[in-house]
Amino acid sequence: MTNDQSDKTFHPNRRGFLGVAAATGAASLAPGVLIGTAATTAALAETSEPAPSQSMDASASPIAAKLPPPVPGYLSFGPDEAGFVEVMVNVMCPADALTPGGVDCGLAAYIDRQLAGGFGKGARLYMRGPWREGKPELGYQLPLTPEQFFKAGLAAADAACRKRKGKAFSELDESGADRFLHEIADGKVTDERVQLASWFNELVYPLFEQACFADPIYGGNVGKVFWKAIGYPGGGYIYANVTNGRPIASRAVPPSTPKWGAEWKKANADWYAHNFSITAHGSWYPHRENYVDLDPTYVDAYGQPLLRMTFDVRENERKMSVYLSKKIDEIAKATGADIAPPTAPRKGPYDSRVYQTTHVTGGTIMGSDPGTSVVSPHLQHWDAENLFVVGASVYPFNAGYNPTGPLGALALRLGDDLNDYVARPHHL
Ligand SMILES: Cc1cc2nc3c(=O)[nH]c(=O)nc-3n(C[C@H](O)[C@H](O)[C@H](O)COP(=O)(O)OP(=O)(O)OC[C@H]3O[C@@H](n4cnc5c(N)ncnc54)[C@H](O)[C@@H]3O)c2cc1C
Repeated sequence: MTNDQSDKTFHPNRRGFLGVAAATGAASLAPGVLIGTAATTAALAETSEPAPSQSMDASASPIAAKLPPPVPGYLSFGPDEAGFVEVMVNVMCPADALTPGGVDCGLAAYIDRQLAGGFGKGARLYMRGPWREGKPELGYQLPLTPEQFFKAGLAAADAACRKRKGKAFSELDESGADRFLHEIADGKVTDERVQLASWFNELVYPLFEQACFADPIYGGNVGKVFWKAIGYPGGGYIYANVTNGRPIASRAVPPSTPKWGAEWKKANADWYAHNFSITAHGSWYPHRENYVDLDPTYVDAYGQPLLRMTFDVRENERKMSVYLSKKIDEIAKATGADIAPPTAPRKGPYDSRVYQTTHVTGGTIMGSDPGTSVVSPHLQHWDAENLFVVGASVYPFNAGYNPTGPLGALALRLGDDLNDYVARPHHL
């Protein structure tokens, strides 16, 4: 379950408001979409047998020695492609005190798996043409799937490397490879058919970042090394935004304002659209004491027991709320607002009457252990093979962010699983 930890409305002076609003607006999230180029054709790399993955000598990094090995073998890369990518990820993620080298972190394996799967095959892209020249802002316009584009770029980059440096990319030493990648990213390396800067910056680099910070189940971030390096997961986020000017709901006045009367009217007239709130949104971990069961007393119209929810704020949530509230106070003070009332951390008991996001999740949680979960990772009920559950109820906890995107992904995957199950009923 998620927890809107703390919410503070404060009142900057009228002039100050515009500056603050602009600063917060600039922090909008940039989605990691793949933006293609206007090229109409591009060379395809030779397809070859997938290569086995290589792992750097674990002794190169003390952290690597303690980690599980990256997933073995490649599904998409051929030997030359694997050689290029392995050198590239080791250069982009050198072994140091924070993480092992890129290959040992599983970065090459992650990229390979993404290219071999639905993303790489362009499962969600329109791929029927016509392939006209398009402006960059029209997005991905290539007749190639991302996997084909990736491989075409690898081949073009390697050819350019041989031309410029006299050897294959995988033969460059670390600093030479690093320089060459920067040259590609900066648009200094060109190819007639593949726009290499766009290839690197809009396809390769986003895959690299994802490989580092995605869930290890996708092959990268082995041993959660990157999450450990940055201190993720856990906690919550703080945000300030103004979504609207609703005359009833979005009309905060200073705390000392009377509830009605002339002074109340004047405060409304003075402060409407001259205040905003800062909100913290935290995660809520699973606790055994929080659960749903059948209500012993209340029944529905058919006499069936209603669902009963037992839920409260536990120590972790309380501490998180105190921490986030302090941070909000610091931020509010730093804005120079005229009025910044103190933030009240959430203490409990959980009050179902007060709005605290609509991200209430859990109830039939998924997991790999039938003793501690209701459905399997394939959303199949442990006790009833032909019962599948999809919905926010399968989340063991909510990591503090909006829940519905991954639900869509789970539902799509369940579609495939159901096809499989209907053809041959079994435990998936
Ligand atoms: C106002 C609001 C804003 C939100 N904004 C966001 C957002 O911006 N981003 C985000 O990620 N999430 C958002 N959410 C949360 C998101 O809507 C839920 O997390 C998501 O819909 C949960 O999906 P679900 O399939 O588990 O449940 P639901 O979407 O609630 O689906 C459950 C379905 O079961 C049906 N049902 C219930 N009982 C029975 C029964 N006995 N028999 C048959 N059918 C039954 C219901 O009618 C419903 O259609 C928002 C929610 C609300 C209410």
